[in-house]
Amino acid sequence: MKQIYICNGCGKKINGKEQDFLHVQKEWGYFSSKDMELHEFYLCEECYDKLLSVLEIPVKIEEVTEV
Ligand SMILES: [Zn+2]
Repeated sequence: MKQIYICNGCGKKINGKEQDFLHVQKEWGYFSSKDMELHEFYLCEECYDKLLSVLEIPVKIEEVTEV
């Protein structure tokens, strides 16, 4: 299984074994101009924070209890 990813925001390597990261995979559908396109990208935590800072509405954050 692949463990090294490239952050699409800054181009740095993300070691999936040592750091957490954002992985987005989106299959665009009929009601978009990207019909039938599969988009995928990775962001390191730093770039994720930058992304959040440009959002108008803050993301929903909940505490996760370990199982
Ligand atoms: Zn990054």
